[in-house]
Amino acid sequence: MDRNKQMAEGLSEARLETLAVRAGHERTMEGEHSEPIYTTSSYLFDSAADAAARFSGERDANVYSRYTNPTVRTFEQRLAAMEGADAAVGTSSGMAAILACCMSFLAAGDKVVCSRSVFGTTTALFTRYMTKFGVITEFVDLCDVSAWEAAVDSHTKLLFMETPSNPTNDVVSIRKIATIAQSVGALLAVDNCFSTPALQRPIEHGADLVVHSATKFLDGQGRVVGGAVCGRQALIDELVVYVRTCGPTMSPFNAWVFLKGLETLSLRMKAHSANAMELAQWLEAQPSIGKVNYCGLPSHSSHAAASEQMSGFGSVMSFTVSGGQAGAWAFIDATRICSLTANLGDAKTTIVHPATTTHGRISQAERDAAGISDNLIRVCVGLEDVEDLRDDFIRGLAAAEAVS
Ligand SMILES: *Cc1c(COP(=O)(O)O)cnc(C)c1O
Repeated sequence: MDRNKQMAEGLSEARLETLAVRAGHERTMEGEHSEPIYTTSSYLFDSAADAAARFSGERDANVYSRYTNPTVRTFEQRLAAMEGADAAVGTSSGMAAILACCMSFLAAGDKVVCSRSVFGTTTALFTRYMTKFGVITEFVDLCDVSAWEAAVDSHTKLLFMETPSNPTNDVVSIRKIATIAQSVGALLAVDNCFSTPALQRPIEHGADLVVHSATKFLDGQGRVVGGAVCGRQALIDELVVYVRTCGPTMSPFNAWVFLKGLETLSLRMKAHSANAMELAQWLEAQPSIGKVNYCGLPSHSSHAAASEQMSGFGSVMSFTVSGGQAGAWAFIDATRICSLTANLGDAKTTIVHPATTTHGRISQAERDAAGISDNLIRVCVGLEDVEDLRDDFIRGLAAAEAVS
C-alpha cells in the first residue's frame, strides 16, 4: 500500500497530540519529513483538456493560490482534525474569518445575536459594517442564557460568542446556547481563540462553526497574522467559495508557521494553564488584591461551567489592585519581565490596563456593566519560569500599594 495512504489511515482514530503533529501532510515524491512551503501563485496544467477539467471542477486539483495551496490545505486539514470538524478554511486574519462567516451566511434583513464581551473589533464589524448591509446585531450578556433565548427570533441566522470572555474570564455552556440556536434554525459560531482545540472543542458541544485568530495561540510566538473557520463540510464549502471570490486568502508562509505552531499547541496550552493557575492562586492570597478573574479558581462564578467543557483553563486572567487607576498603572510600569502590549497568545507574558486601552473607547457605564474597573489589570500568562513572573508581580504589587 501507498505509504501516504497507510499513514493517513493510522490517523483515523488518533488523538489530538498525534493529529497536531501529523494530520494533513501528504509527502511528495521528494520524501520530505517536514511540511514544505509552496510559494507559488499558480499551477501548471498537464494539457488543455486537464485545464478545462480543473476549471470546471470535474478534476479536483490546484489552479491558483487564491483557490487552493498545498501548505494552506495541510494547515486546514490539521486544524479541522484537531477541532473534530469535517473541514476548515484558512483566512488572512482572525477578522477575515469572522467576516467570512457573515458574508457567507447572512443577508439583508437577518439578525445576529452576539455576546457583549467579544473582541472589540468584532463588535465594530457587526455595528459599523454589517448594519450598512441591513444586518442588525443584538448584544447579550454571555452567561445570561435567558437573554439569548429572548433575543432569538425567526430572522436570527447567526449566534456568535467568545467563551471564556475577555478580560473577566466568564464561561457559558456552549451546549445551552447551541440548543437555542437550533430552536430557530440559526448557526452558532464560537470564537475559540482563547482556549484553542487543545483545551476546548466547541463542535463536541454543539457549535456549528469554530472561528480562530490563528495569530494568537495557534502560532503562539507572535510572528504572523492569520485566521480560520472550522465546521461541517457543507458550511466550509460555502466559506471556501466566499474566500476564493472575495480574496482574504491565507499566505502559504503563514500557514507553514501555524503548522509548526500546532505541533506544540497542546504542550504550550498545558504550560500556559499551569503558570496561570499558579499565579492566580498566589494573587488571590495577597491581601491588597481585590478580585482575581480566572475561571480555574473555584471562587470564579464560571468555574463549574469551565470545568465541564474545558480540559484546562488557559492563559488569560485579570485582577484588581489597590489604588484605583494610578495603582494599576504603577503595577504595570513596575514590572520588568511582562510585555506591555494589548496582544495575547504568546510565549511572552503580556500585561495591559483594559479601561484605558482595549476597552477605552466604550462608555464608563458599559465598562462598569462589563466588570472593567479602573483598577483592573489583564495578564496573558506566557511560558517564562513562573517564579520569575511572581517576582515581577511582587514588584508590581509593591508599586500599586505605594500609591494607595
Ligand atoms: C485577535 C482576536 C481576533 C482578531 O484576530 P486577528 O488575527 O487580529 O484579525 C478575534 N477574536 C479574538 C478573541 C481575538 O483575540
